[in-house]
Amino acid sequence: MKELSDIGLIGLAVMGENLILNMASKGFTVTAFNRSTEKVKNFVEGRAAGKSIRGAYSVEELVQSLEKPRKIMIMVKAGAPVDATIESLIPHLEEGDIIIDGGNTHYPDTIRREKYLSEKGIHFVGAGVSGGEEGALTGPSIMPGGSPEAWSFVKPIFQGISAKVEDGSPCCDYVGENGAGHFVKMVHNGIEYGDMQLLCEAYQVMKEVVGMSADEIHEVFAAWNNTELDSYLVEITRDIMAYKDEDGEPLVEKILDTAGQKGTGKWTGVIALDLGVPLTLIAESVFARCISALKDERVEAAKVIEGPAKSFTGDKVAFIEDLRQAVLASKIVSYAQGYTLMREAAKEFGWNLNYGGIAMMWRGGCIIRSAFLGDIKNAFDKNPELNNLLLDDYFKDIVTKAQTGWRNVAVATIANGVPTPCLMAALNYFDGYRTARLPANLLQAQRDYFGAHTYERTDKPRGEFFHTNWTGRG
Ligand code: NAP
Repeated sequence: MKELSDIGLIGLAVMGENLILNMASKGFTVTAFNRSTEKVKNFVEGRAAGKSIRGAYSVEELVQSLEKPRKIMIMVKAGAPVDATIESLIPHLEEGDIIIDGGNTHYPDTIRREKYLSEKGIHFVGAGVSGGEEGALTGPSIMPGGSPEAWSFVKPIFQGISAKVEDGSPCCDYVGENGAGHFVKMVHNGIEYGDMQLLCEAYQVMKEVVGMSADEIHEVFAAWNNTELDSYLVEITRDIMAYKDEDGEPLVEKILDTAGQKGTGKWTGVIALDLGVPLTLIAESVFARCISALKDERVEAAKVIEGPAKSFTGDKVAFIEDLRQAVLASKIVSYAQGYTLMREAAKEFGWNLNYGGIAMMWRGGCIIRSAFLGDIKNAFDKNPELNNLLLDDYFKDIVTKAQTGWRNVAVATIANGVPTPCLMAALNYFDGYRTARLPANLLQAQRDYFGAHTYERTDKPRGEFFHTNWTGRG
């Protein structure tokens, strides 16, 4: 083992241990530390035995074991524990040392910590890590932001352990300044909410509108995985539909239909509202979880509020293709919205985001990994200034062609009273975005009527404001 370690890692829970094992497997020497030091002993004598991993039993020992500039990655519970860990390190570090937070931190905390540490001459990297325990061990998607000076020191380790796509490119690159890495990870999680909900809606439509069995739905997802929808989430959904309980019945049908949300979807929706970005699909996916959580109320409401009788008379095969088109078009809208959010956030926070690189980081190792992200990278390679994915020729053509099927599915779900909030939100965004004149003229008139908010006129230059006395009263 090398005399000094390449990196230290604090936090020996599932993520930390697996990242250390991943680093060691790629030839790096790592020092492992944890607040409760019995975990250090268990780890070095257990899973880490015989590998280029040493244990430290105090912060001093950890710091002294590292090559300079020291690189210390924190993988503890997000929030106050990260601040506590940073405070415990500061007295032992020197200017130029690097602290990395790889947890699921909310980006404003990363912005605050980066500013605080840079004033002390310590570099801070906020890195989003996706892919769960398995990814941490075998190759996660890593989205590092923060001090640009620190990136060259962290790069070989992070790109060494990250997932790789077919051509060998790492699913990790520098994202941008201070909180940019954690922001992009948050948007990734929001998109994950949306992608999952779209597949849930497709399942509900197949089950409730068409009346298909779990085995039939399994076949459909299996077929979709060989199309543009090829992705990890379609793959696992296919497998879930085929999974049988001990009695031979599909397990999925026995699972209680109420979902929780840990917060990253909500954070994505909140900043979209703050920045005035129409992130409708992700917001609806969070609300879909909220309505699912009202299980008892829904059961009572179902007894007293009747919807339409369900009937499906169309061509099943054609309708399933319409549904695939609807899911694909909605997914494109969701990514278009997510990218718009990142663009607006970059303006707000002064980040120089690499949009194609972000698609590449999500291409492998994380939950939303899919073939489709390669096409997003191509779109930004062609035009780094692209305002909206819907304006890229490749995506515009797909969505334009998908419209007929998308609308057929919307009509069928409305007629049958089956909720599809994300498919609908996406279609409404699409129709809103491609409509040159929306009814906001009336809205402005209403605002001027009750609040003298003034309005601009189509027959006068922009920037000239008018007020009307709508009632004629003085
Ligand atoms: P975790 O359960 O979130 O955190 C456990 C670790 O935090 C332990 O090492 C614990 O030390 C330490 N800790 C808790 N409070 C502390 C404090 N006040 N001071 C110092 N250390 C403290 O661990 P995890 O699931 O491995 O996740 C680590 C981070 O990665 C989290 O931010 C998580 O959200 C993120 N993440 C997790 C996943 C996943 O799939 N689990 C995926 C991506 C990202 P003790 O042993 O001393 O209690």
